[in-house]
Amino acid sequence: MAIRVTIWNENRHEKKSAKVREVYPEGIHGAIASFLKSEGMDTKTATLDEPEHGLTDEVLDNTDVLTWWGHTAHHEVSDAVVDKVEQRVLDGMGLIVLHSAHFSKIFRRLMGTTCDLKWREIGEKERLWVVEPGHPIVAGIGEYIELPKTEMYGERFDIPAPDTLVFISWFAGGEVFRSGCCYCRGRGKIFYFRPGHETYPIFYNQDVQRVITNAVRWAAPSQGPVPTFGHHPAPLENI
Ligand code: ZN
Repeated sequence: MAIRVTIWNENRHEKKSAKVREVYPEGIHGAIASFLKSEGMDTKTATLDEPEHGLTDEVLDNTDVLTWWGHTAHHEVSDAVVDKVEQRVLDGMGLIVLHSAHFSKIFRRLMGTTCDLKWREIGEKERLWVVEPGHPIVAGIGEYIELPKTEMYGERFDIPAPDTLVFISWFAGGEVFRSGCCYCRGRGKIFYFRPGHETYPIFYNQDVQRVITNAVRWAAPSQGPVPTFGHHPAPLENI
């Protein structure tokens, strides 16, 4: 069965900026949905200004993997929706956190840290080095991905140490950054992926599309066991 992906986007830059609309005429969500759909996934989009930000119970119940892009309006995302998304992740839904969504309520909630970082926007070159070549997220990728013009994100990136670090970025200005970070929370899998600034055509880059596609497949629910907790008076063996 096709993986059901909901592509969430704040969608404010696209409304306010002609420059951003020029790069993403269908919105960042439209661009991401388009290449995931071409990979055979069952895609739908949801945006901040829809009722419940487009993330109703029905939508979340029919989502295997949620991708999240936000930047200027993280604070406008309702805590009730964040609570629901968090619970869904803990129950097994995958979450792909893109670029400036490092500061989203949902990512900070799941990480438990500030998720703050260093940044600069002068359109410098970035090279994302693959540091875990056997990982399914880098299937089909070479030793590195090169992006000619990006916004820089630099360390310290205030996140917990990733379960698996897949990419480290180098920037022309000298900084480095942990650009591809995998986590498990509850039964859910989370991948943070750095590229994706709104004024650069990064979501059209084939390697970036390959990584996001692989990440959605990796993060899809595994249907593993539901853990039980608490007092267990009866031992499994005769003691
Ligand atoms: Zn940015």
